[in-house]
Amino acid sequence: MAQPTTPLRCFRDHHFKEKFKDENVVTVTSVEQIAVELNVQEAYESFRIDWRMPQPILQREKHFQYLKKGLKNLSESYSCLDASRPWLCYWILHSLELLGEPLDESTASHICQFLARCQCPNGGFGGGPGQEPHLAPTYAAVNALCIMGTEEAYGVINREKLLEFLYSVRQPNGSFTMHMSGEVDVRSAYCAASVASLTNIITPTLFEGTPEWVISCQNWEGGIGGVPGMEAHGGYTFCGMAAMVIFKKEWMLDLRALLRWVTNRQMRFEGGFQGRCNKLVDGCYSFWQAGLLPLLHRALHAAGKDTLSMTHWMFHQEALQEYILLCCQNSTGGLLDKPGKSRDFYHTCYCLSGLSVAQHFGGGELLHEIIVGDESNRLKPTHPVYNIGPEKVAQAVMHFLKLSVPRIKTNSN
Ligand SMILES: [Zn+2]
Repeated sequence: MAQPTTPLRCFRDHHFKEKFKDENVVTVTSVEQIAVELNVQEAYESFRIDWRMPQPILQREKHFQYLKKGLKNLSESYSCLDASRPWLCYWILHSLELLGEPLDESTASHICQFLARCQCPNGGFGGGPGQEPHLAPTYAAVNALCIMGTEEAYGVINREKLLEFLYSVRQPNGSFTMHMSGEVDVRSAYCAASVASLTNIITPTLFEGTPEWVISCQNWEGGIGGVPGMEAHGGYTFCGMAAMVIFKKEWMLDLRALLRWVTNRQMRFEGGFQGRCNKLVDGCYSFWQAGLLPLLHRALHAAGKDTLSMTHWMFHQEALQEYILLCCQNSTGGLLDKPGKSRDFYHTCYCLSGLSVAQHFGGGELLHEIIVGDESNRLKPTHPVYNIGPEKVAQAVMHFLKLSVPRIKTNSN
C-alpha cells in the first residue's frame, strides 16, 4: 500500500546543510560540484515557491507524446546513434511499459520487422540493418522483443545462431568480447547472460569461468570496474552484479563492500546518484546504481542476513524520487541527466527505471510502495535483473523453456 504523503525532503531546512564544503581547497571538481548544486537548488526552490504545485508531478502525458514521436521519427541529433538503433527501440518501449502505455499491434509488428533486419545471418544483432553483430544491441533487441512479447516478436530470435554468436565472442577465461575482435568488459558478460537466460540457450560450457572473471573486476573500492584493476563504476557494477544473479553466484562477490560503495554514491544534497566516486550526479545512475539495491537486498537475504524486517531498499528512496521529478524532467517531455542538460531517450528510460525502483519495495505480499507526490506518479514495476516488466520476463522464460537448448559444435564443448 502507498504511504501517506510525507513532507518533501527538499522542503526541510536541514537539507541545505548537506551541501558540499570545499574546505577552502578549490579544484576543477569542487567548482563543478558547487555549480551543479546551485542548479539543483534552483530547481528545488522554484518548486517550493510555485503554489500551483503542492506535490511533484510526473509529466506522464508529455513523456508519452515525446516517446510516441520517437518511435516514428528521430531528429538529426540522433544520427550519432545509427549504430544503436535496437537501443532506441528498447529505451522507448521500456519507458512506455513503465508508464503503462500499451503499444498498438501494427507498431509492434513494424518494430519486430525492423529488429529482424538488424539480426545478422551468423547470429546476434547489429546496431542497424547490415551492421556487424554486437552484444550491446543484441541485449537491447532481445529485451525489446520480450517487452512486446508476441509470437511474432519471440519468433524473430534465431536461438541457434544467437548461441553460435555468443560462443564466437567467448574467451578461454570465461570473459566475452563485445563483438568479434572487440574489447572485453563486464557489460559483455551481462549482455550475454541476459539474452541467454531469457531465451533458454545456456549450455553447460557457455559461462564456464565467467563468474570467476566477473568477481576479479570487483576492486578495493567495493564496486566493479570494466576489467580487472579498473575504477569502480555504476554501469559496470550493475552489469557485474546482475550477471552474478543470473549465474546464482552473487555470494562470490564481497557484498558488504559493494553495499558500502553503492550507498555512498547517492548524493547528500541532490538526492540522485553519481556513477563514480567524486563525480557529478546524473539521472541515468538512478537505475544503474539504485537498481543494485534490490539485487543486493536479495543476495544478502539469500546469504542469511536479516532483511525480512525491512520496508525500504537500503538507499533514500524519497530523495531519489525528488531528484528525478524536480530536476530531471524536461518541461516538454522526456527526462535528462541534470538541470541544464537536454533530454534524450537513454536518460528517459533510465530515469523512469530508477523512479520505478524507488517507488516499489519488495514484491507480492511484501510489496511496499513509497510514492513521492500524487498517486498518478506511480509507475509499473521493473525486473531488477533484466530491466523489463517482471511479467514480461516470466512470459519470455515460460515461452522459451518449451523449446530445447540448441546443440552446438564448437571447440570449447
Ligand atoms: Zn547519464
